[in-house]
Amino acid sequence: MSAPAILWFRNDLRLADQAALHAALAGGRAVVPVFILDAAAAGAWAPGAASRWWLHHSLAALHTALRQSGGGLVLRRGDSPAILAELTETTGATDIYTGGSAEPWARRLDRTVADAMRRRGVALHRMRTMTLFGPEQVQTRTGGPFQVYTPFAKACLALGGPRAPLPAPAALPRVTLPRSDRLADWDLRPRKPDWAGGLRATWTPGEAGARRRLRDFLAESLAAYADCRDRPDLEATSRLSPHLHFGEVSAARVWHAVQAAAPGKGGEAFIRELLWREFSLHLLWHHPTMPEAPLRPGFAAMPWRDDRAQLRAWQNGETGIPIVDAGMQQLWQTGWMHNRVRMIVASLLVKHLLIPWQAGEAWFWDTLVDADLANNAASWQWVAGCGADAAPYFRVFNPVLQSRTFDPDGTYIRRFVPALAELDAAHIHAPWQAPAAALVQAGVVLGTSYPRPIVDLASGRARALDAYAMVREAGLTDFLLRPSGGR
Ligand code: FAD
Repeated sequence: MSAPAILWFRNDLRLADQAALHAALAGGRAVVPVFILDAAAAGAWAPGAASRWWLHHSLAALHTALRQSGGGLVLRRGDSPAILAELTETTGATDIYTGGSAEPWARRLDRTVADAMRRRGVALHRMRTMTLFGPEQVQTRTGGPFQVYTPFAKACLALGGPRAPLPAPAALPRVTLPRSDRLADWDLRPRKPDWAGGLRATWTPGEAGARRRLRDFLAESLAAYADCRDRPDLEATSRLSPHLHFGEVSAARVWHAVQAAAPGKGGEAFIRELLWREFSLHLLWHHPTMPEAPLRPGFAAMPWRDDRAQLRAWQNGETGIPIVDAGMQQLWQTGWMHNRVRMIVASLLVKHLLIPWQAGEAWFWDTLVDADLANNAASWQWVAGCGADAAPYFRVFNPVLQSRTFDPDGTYIRRFVPALAELDAAHIHAPWQAPAAALVQAGVVLGTSYPRPIVDLASGRARALDAYAMVREAGLTDFLLRPSGGR
């Protein structure tokens, strides 16, 4: 019998539409599935606490699914090239199949592994498992990367959609697996205090959970998606983001399911969002420094403030601005936040508080279950005005107006800020402007039961505009970094 192939799982923890698995199985070969936790390779971008919780459960689900198909999952922790070398030695494998990665550290690792394996006569095959299209498929007319979303999305749509999803294998050929670590020994879940109760109540990590989430979204929310997606008080979006990040469902599969279910307005709006994800990955591919440095280099000269107390108030949901505090509480309790509210809380941090976007990015990295290097960095830079196709810096979100527009009855605020639960819809968005009688009636004592705002919104806005004017007058806002690192 021929030697088995190694399947090196990355951010593609699924069996259906798994191009690397499909290719590894070709010709009836047995497959040794492996996941390696290589925190040193990821460096500063090793998974944060919420992602580690998700990863634990996703790996457990993948293990179960593989066993049900007749296989299993080998777990190893440490240096990827050394572990893969040992596994090829013990199994006799001459081929390793893996998904393509966009993270700069993962691409560096791919190159190191490919070189090390080549020297041993082992081939590393990288398959597309994460994105809808390959980086070589989506280019400007002159063959370069896009810097603006709309032409990027048009170029994607002109490709006529991603390929049809591949089926999951009915069964896996039997193979003797090398030794595996015990998942529980990796300590991915919190010990004490156990802060993950809200995550457990909200999510079902794994491929089966992703399938159910997609099915429910198609049945219940897709038709109204275009009209309701900006409302945090409604369950109007798919909440597929962590499932997509960990690759428990492929973006191609979601694309085709949505097209089949609602080709109209709801489906079109949803595909636009999937293409924002694709755009972020495209940006990260061509600008590997995006998670750390502004795409418009002049923004490095912004007069950012180092205000630990205000940063902590923002992180804890104690800013005194209800929509912001509700969002930060939703994040803390569930590991997720509605997109509109992400924009509002991010805008308050980088504009009204003038705290660097990287501080917000780092907090999201640790607390989001969908923390994703491409989406997180691209979105923070977009809000800060220093990214590709960014929100103009002079457009400073007014969190009170945003709150009134998108959470009109205050339902979302009441859910996550119980101290304001009794305040009426007219005053809940800006309690510091409420008449004393309304506060007394709702049992709110500003500064005691609920904080006063940590920043005056009008002067915070003016300070942000001054800072921006300074960077703009120096002629520093216009230039994107030259693309680098794409290959
Ligand atoms: P839906 O509205 O159902 O959209 C479907 C899918 O499209 C999402 O699952 C996601 O994969 C993609 N998508 C939707 N909106 C965006 C967007 N604006 N940019 C890129 N892709 C999008 N998303 C992450 O997945 N990980 C992050 O770490 C992340 N950080 C963010 C930080 C900030 C400051 C902001 C403003 C946005 C961030 N987003 C991030 C984008 C967006 O908020 C989430 O993808 C979305 O809220 C996920 O919810 P959903 O699955 O219900 O989205």
